[in-house]
Amino acid sequence: SQLAKDSHIIIIGAGTWGISTALHLARRGYTNIKVLDKYPVPSPISAGNDVNKFLELDSSPVGDYVSKAIAQATVSGWKNDPVFQPYYHDTGAIIAATSEAAREDISSGGGMTSANGWIPRSTGREFRETMPQGVLTGEFPGWKGWWKKDGAGWVAARKSMESAAREAARLGVTFLSGPAGETRELVYTDGKAVRGVRTADGHVHLGAKTILCAGAAAENLLDMKDQLRPTAWTLAHIKMTPEEAKIYKDLPVLFNVERGFFMEPDEDKHELKICDEHPGYCNWVTDGGKLKSRPFARQQIPLESEQRVRQFLKETMPHLASRPLSFARICWCADTPDRKFLISTHPEHQDLVLGVGASGHGFAHITSVGSFIADAMESKLDPRLAKAFRWRPETAVGRDWGALQGRYGPKGSNRVMNFQDVSEDEWTTIGLDQVKL
Ligand code: FAD
Repeated sequence: SQLAKDSHIIIIGAGTWGISTALHLARRGYTNIKVLDKYPVPSPISAGNDVNKFLELDSSPVGDYVSKAIAQATVSGWKNDPVFQPYYHDTGAIIAATSEAAREDISSGGGMTSANGWIPRSTGREFRETMPQGVLTGEFPGWKGWWKKDGAGWVAARKSMESAAREAARLGVTFLSGPAGETRELVYTDGKAVRGVRTADGHVHLGAKTILCAGAAAENLLDMKDQLRPTAWTLAHIKMTPEEAKIYKDLPVLFNVERGFFMEPDEDKHELKICDEHPGYCNWVTDGGKLKSRPFARQQIPLESEQRVRQFLKETMPHLASRPLSFARICWCADTPDRKFLISTHPEHQDLVLGVGASGHGFAHITSVGSFIADAMESKLDPRLAKAFRWRPETAVGRDWGALQGRYGPKGSNRVMNFQDVSEDEWTTIGLDQVKL
């Protein structure tokens, strides 16, 4: 039977996917939506709370139905939806690798062709020419890759998340934060159907549907049967002068899949964000006899990560390589074994809907992923998507927790690392005086 539009709907997590879900449900006419989060938007622990994210706009001519369908929905949102459209910057992108093996891998799908607008780059001079003089000053040792002048670029991540939350609130969605939003547990009838949630203030919020969008923290509320591997990446900022910020404007994204990437500095604070590239960090602890990667918040990064950031800068912009960091943090996402999303009703717990498993590529989909989650809630998700995104514990039996899952890193970091191996004095100290999360 159809869910009444005034039914109570609880969304756990006001991060990237929770906000997208709230927006799409509100647009479908639901009038009683509550989004619960420990933090007000933008949550400092949301993977989407970041100055910018990379986005390739054109849906690649290669790939399966599922990849194309979600890419099309995403692209349409960035091009046409007034909530998101102002935040996409079609600046182009350079994608490169250092090793032959990684280069072959990224071009193996057949998409990196001149017909698709990708121009080969292989010398330091060719890389430097992709940006105004004075931006790229490095030698690009061993780099080879491709440059695309449009159809790719970056999105202002935090701003688009805030824009979506504003629109959802305007359409009547309620956002609760602090102890009133921090969800402690799901509330069941007979251990089966989910009736809602209990928050840290002791309140029980009842919902006809409860939607779990807690990102890497989903496991805290539900046994995910090893389908999620919480994995963290690292980001660092350096401060630019107003003069530098003028030169560093409208730049293509520069991405080496084994070294790292950067996008132009943000227009408000003139901070340049750099991510070093690696297959991620887990935080392995034993919990009830089982190995679990448990996320934690921290606005510092391992010193070895800072070194990788500086190595990336040495190769691309050596004039910035020793500038102090102005901000750094670890940022958690959760990988499914095949890095496809997990968007489904729960097979055993009636009225529980899952919107998790963003697998490191979930931000670009903020425009549209909520509509797939809403489709799952309304039991009308396209069967091909429903199959790909299903609850699939059988795919995680005996899971190889060290699997690279299609990612790379420089020599020595080309493996999933463990925060337990990073001692307390092996972290950066920037921001230690700030509020602990
Ligand atoms: P989140 O955005 O993390 O949201 C989870 C929310 O749940 C948070 O707000 C949190 O506060 C809340 N929460 C947790 N526990 C509770 C609880 N108990 N009660 C209430 N609320 C709770 N993707 C791209 O597409 N392009 C990129 O270039 C890109 N770059 C990335 C770079 C880095 C460094 C990282 C870490 C990720 C990157 N991603 C990128 C991936 C993308 O950011 C994520 O896939 C996406 O943001 C995940 O969204 P989410 O809603 O699942 O999780």
